[in-house]
Amino acid sequence: MLDLTAAALAQKIREGEVSSHEAAEAANHRVEEVEDRIHALLTPTPEIALERAGRVDERLRNGGIKPWEGVPLVVKDVLSTKGIRTTCGSKILDDFTPLYDASALVNFGEDLVLIGKTNMDEFAMGSSTENSAYGPTRNPWDLGRVPGGSSGGSAAAVAAGEGWWALGTDTGGSVRQPAALCGIVGLKPTYGRVSRYGLIAFGSSLDCIGPMTRDVRDSALLLQAIAGHDSLDSTSANAEVPDYLADLEGGVSGLKVGVVKELMDERIDAGVRGVVENVVGGLEEAGAEVGEVSLPHAYYALEAYYIIAPAEISSNLSRFDGVRFGLRETADGVHEMYRRTRERGFGDEAKRRIMLGTYALSSGYYDAYYSQAQKVRTRMIRDFRDALSRYDVLISPTAPSVAFEIGAKSDDPLAMYLQDICAVPASLAGIPAISVPGGLSEGLPVGVQLMSDHFTEPMLLRAARAAEEVSGFAFSQRP
Ligand code: GLN
Repeated sequence: MLDLTAAALAQKIREGEVSSHEAAEAANHRVEEVEDRIHALLTPTPEIALERAGRVDERLRNGGIKPWEGVPLVVKDVLSTKGIRTTCGSKILDDFTPLYDASALVNFGEDLVLIGKTNMDEFAMGSSTENSAYGPTRNPWDLGRVPGGSSGGSAAAVAAGEGWWALGTDTGGSVRQPAALCGIVGLKPTYGRVSRYGLIAFGSSLDCIGPMTRDVRDSALLLQAIAGHDSLDSTSANAEVPDYLADLEGGVSGLKVGVVKELMDERIDAGVRGVVENVVGGLEEAGAEVGEVSLPHAYYALEAYYIIAPAEISSNLSRFDGVRFGLRETADGVHEMYRRTRERGFGDEAKRRIMLGTYALSSGYYDAYYSQAQKVRTRMIRDFRDALSRYDVLISPTAPSVAFEIGAKSDDPLAMYLQDICAVPASLAGIPAISVPGGLSEGLPVGVQLMSDHFTEPMLLRAARAAEEVSGFAFSQRP
């Protein structure tokens, strides 16, 4: 059962061949077997999984369930889960229990079979999961290496078979990059496609919830389960949700595919470029029209992102003041209480970004940094508009390297930020982007990123499905 895709398991559950309860038992067992090595979960929820799975089985007997229901899931600990501890990987929310479920989880169904809440970089800031206040997650492909981040717990859990699929969040690559480093599929939908309600905010103009799955079909199915308009999120798009599975096998014949020049230069490891070129060649053989495309401002996207994202988080983290949520340190006077609470509650990266963001937003520096970064963002959007008027899908690596060793970049924030060069352009533009395993380099998985225009996920998923097919990489290849 543990080797099935989520879609295959869902079908077996609906046909009564296996029960959701049996699936939850199998996942719980797998968690016990591997968690002391992987540390993907911050809060395992085995009893909740069994209880809810029992209810899904009951509902199935009495009528019907949604096509994806009953398949156990792990959820990044940045998504609010009613009555279940939600830490955001931070000490400041160590004992925080939300009062409601995130809308994406509500959409999934009445009884979400939750196996656990997954480890993450604190408040989703990072690319390795080493910024978690609860210790790093290990990459199932090589326990000495990082799983990527910030949704590293979700990626590692799926790669290690601790659940069939996962939800992560992507502000500047945090679904796609860990998916790439762990050999799974990670989709960042169009900004606004999935409600952010109940997603603890990092960069509100960038944050997206996305599926992390064993294959592209599962990605389409999980997106189907969570997408939709939500009156509780004013940035949620009031656009109809299409059938993401209908045209999945449609192939790429006649599709125009542009390889992004700026994201294939020497900043990317040669082994990674080789895998991307191989997949591009395969798509061409499958009938795609391939060309090279330029996104000139992609060179400045990282710099712009690392002004805008810290600016937004410096504002969003101000709510953690010792009064409204989580940790409170005692002190004489309210200011000293704030200071002590935030000093103890936040880790180094959170503090660094609060300082950077506050600086970039402060009077006198705002024009020099924040508004300049916003102008670069607009240029980036124009680059994409131009490129996507000529090409249907753009292709690049997802990350510049394969998974690196734990500790290799943790003392060098700039080296860590460079992990995001390929991912942040799509984040700034709000377009959908997906990472598909393209093959191996140095014996480790490499992700190929496909990007397309706003709300064109059906076509993006179809192209991703073709890329998956030509890559020859299969989930079952994992160690
Ligand atoms: N690695 C990027 C950062 O640290 C992206 C994080 C994310 O997408 N949540 O900001």
